[in-house]
Amino acid sequence: MQSERQGARVIRDSGSSARIARSPPLQLRPEVTEPDWASLTLGVFVCQACSLLHRSIPHISQVKSVQDTWEDSEVELMAAMGNGAAKAKYEQKVPAFYYRPTHTDCKLLREQWIRAKYERNEFEFIEKQEPYSAGYREGFLWKRGRDNGQFLSRKFALSERDGALKYFNKQDARDPKAVMKIETLNATFQPAKIGNPCGLQITYLKDNSTRNIFVYHSDAKEMVDWFNAIRAARFHYLQVAFPGASDEEHTEGFKKRWFTMDDRRLMYFKDPLDAYARGEVFIGSKENSYTVLAGLPPSTQGYHWNHGITIVTPDRKFLFACETEAEQRDWIAAFQRVINRPMRPQEYAVEAHFKHKP
Ligand SMILES: [Zn+2]
Repeated sequence: MQSERQGARVIRDSGSSARIARSPPLQLRPEVTEPDWASLTLGVFVCQACSLLHRSIPHISQVKSVQDTWEDSEVELMAAMGNGAAKAKYEQKVPAFYYRPTHTDCKLLREQWIRAKYERNEFEFIEKQEPYSAGYREGFLWKRGRDNGQFLSRKFALSERDGALKYFNKQDARDPKAVMKIETLNATFQPAKIGNPCGLQITYLKDNSTRNIFVYHSDAKEMVDWFNAIRAARFHYLQVAFPGASDEEHTEGFKKRWFTMDDRRLMYFKDPLDAYARGEVFIGSKENSYTVLAGLPPSTQGYHWNHGITIVTPDRKFLFACETEAEQRDWIAAFQRVINRPMRPQEYAVEAHFKHKP
């Protein structure tokens, strides 16, 4: 977390998606932060959860437990690379818009990240990033029908020049069935909801209301490429729409931020359309010393909005301010609901993961 003071802002969407931007299934294991495994072929240490993914790509990565007996030559292999050097090599050209999965993301995203990085070397050679950085992408996706829930193959075309993602009901159709403007477009993986490991939910605004479509592709790389192509389009749109609007990092006090809460994960964005959360706060339970209070500590200065909220975590306090009392009340109620609910076993691992974040 880079800054303690943030302005809180609630802007309601007519749908609920503005406040539940992502809901990744919790797939963490308690030992997730312990790098107990090593990839001999890549020369990096990984945690238990990641070691399972590495194990599924044995031609790229051969994993070995640090508890095992090690040959001198194996130790030398690890010493010759190491996590820092590997990152410098394999992640040297990750595009700013490219989604870097965390341990809470679905398996598909995490596995494709490993494959993109180590198998396809996409972040060493920018010419390999064509599928998502060209500004144009066209192909077929399975789209769930609005009425009967059946998936049908549909042609999709994303064009940064047109500023839209379109899909067509007939392959040779001239007119698209839907035009989704890049400025309101958002995509999140929702495998459980869609019932497919590659299920992607695409959200957009039409006539000021939120619409969703659900798609998948049987090939995981194809789907992740679509996902990142959409992110690239949004990122480039924002660069054009808000040029240079990125340099207020060093101002003191409160900043205006867009907040979304997804279960125990409070995320804030500089702009609601931003590709990345600027930061995240994990909200635990009252048994684990998390509290929400109305108001701000008496010494607090520099806020423009009068309706303060203080979230106390075991490590620190987070201060927010809302524009209206109603918004303050709604946010406090939302935080309270989460805090009142005891933490599930896997949520301890999520909490630990947040604490270990640099
Ligand atoms: Zn890991």
